[in-house]
Amino acid sequence: MTDRYASFVQSAAGRALVKRLGLPDPPRLRRHRPGDPLLPGPALLGAATGGRLAEPVTTILTAAGVELADPAAATAPGDTPQRYGALLFDATGITDSTELRQLYDFFHPQARSVLPSGRVIVLGTPPQECATPREATAQRALEGLVRSIGKEFGRGSTAQLVYVSGNAAHSAGTITSLESTIRFLLSGRSAYVSGQVIRVGGGAAASAPADWDRPLDGQVVLVTGAARGIGAALAKVLARDGARVVALDIPAAGDALAAVANDIGGTAVQLDLTAPDAPTRLAEHLASRHGRVDVVVHNAGITRDKTLGRMDADRWDQVIDVNLSSQERINDVLLERELIPAGGRIISVSSIAGIAGNRGQTNYATSKAGVIGLVDSLAPALRERGISVNAVAPGFIETRLTARIPLVVREAGRRMNSLAQGGLPVDVAETIGWLAWPASGAVSGNVVRVCGQSLLGA
Ligand code: NAD
Repeated sequence: MTDRYASFVQSAAGRALVKRLGLPDPPRLRRHRPGDPLLPGPALLGAATGGRLAEPVTTILTAAGVELADPAAATAPGDTPQRYGALLFDATGITDSTELRQLYDFFHPQARSVLPSGRVIVLGTPPQECATPREATAQRALEGLVRSIGKEFGRGSTAQLVYVSGNAAHSAGTITSLESTIRFLLSGRSAYVSGQVIRVGGGAAASAPADWDRPLDGQVVLVTGAARGIGAALAKVLARDGARVVALDIPAAGDALAAVANDIGGTAVQLDLTAPDAPTRLAEHLASRHGRVDVVVHNAGITRDKTLGRMDADRWDQVIDVNLSSQERINDVLLERELIPAGGRIISVSSIAGIAGNRGQTNYATSKAGVIGLVDSLAPALRERGISVNAVAPGFIETRLTARIPLVVREAGRRMNSLAQGGLPVDVAETIGWLAWPASGAVSGNVVRVCGQSLLGA
């Protein structure tokens, strides 16, 4: 799928027309290429008085080769304004609404200083962990700032809030996963993720990789629905990052599946996930070939759209079965046979339709909201076993699935987000990749939208 409008806008004639008519102006997004630096320019790090994260974050940024700007130099009057690849602010010291002013004081002078595809990250304390109602209130307020910056700064920049647990009992895993999260959010891997609230810590352990360019080295990863679209992109991204990929799809997609698996040196499993014996056949395959599966990515999904009054029961049943019930049956068998070890991951693909609902998609939205329920219920239940559970919720992604949407609705879906364009399969793949890294073990129970901060489902 190509977005012809976005290509036109990036041409000289297109740029002139967009300016003259005030048309939507989708920027070219910075996407990850192995070997690229994390940021296109230096980072400016600020902190509220009494914050607890400025020190570990400085260490993380320095280790990642990020140049740190001097905050004093940045505010000197008469200086040529400095441009930044990222603005980071440790807001954990804010314990009362009157102290929110520190956010204004840091961000206001820098509102025009962020480079194209720059990054804004605010770090906070999860409100439920706060010592007083006032602190919890002030920490909750951070969401509004971040989501608005995501809509204001433009030119492909993104903004996120990361709530970092202060629970000392989990501190080792928390700081490693804060590092994996900061690296992901600063890099081009998170090109289409904006306006998100991510919770780090209070859960499973995490281990840093020997090489951050191969964060999945040696991990055995199962990807369902891998023959095309997001699943095929996922198989490539995970293999690039060092994983041994088991690619699964229906027998009818066998040729495309074999091509994906051959391309990345992975293995192919032809299996219809809704077959009654699918969970046991899959478990037997994984046990005999690999002895385990470190990461399970439930990506396979279907749509069978009709408004509820016109929908036959088959459409309802198929969608719930492929998108939700089959995931539950597979999880049950893999967990029962202890094939997912401590440090393992379950990652499901939901959708913004599962958050906002969608006309003509009662079956699909029900299944995708169910996926979020699966994360909410399994993440705490599996914490003791050291297994983390998360989901991504894609918005408008350019695949065969969205190519079938009527033109006008398709254009609306593409433009109605902060980045004024659809995402690419690789954007969803990179986000799932980060959740799969052993270093991200302390990220659990999250649903991260990959939607360019879509206005739908807001
Ligand atoms: P796609 O149709 O291109 O690919 C889905 C794959 O799943 C296909 O290869 C298909 O053969 C496989 N599959 C379907 N039923 C299966 C079964 N019973 N057993 C095994 N494999 C099966 O779709 P996509 O756009 O790549 O979507 C991937 C996931 O992302 C889906 O869960 C979808 O709901 C979700 N999603 C996509 C978008 C988007 O904009 N494309 C948005 C939100 C969510």
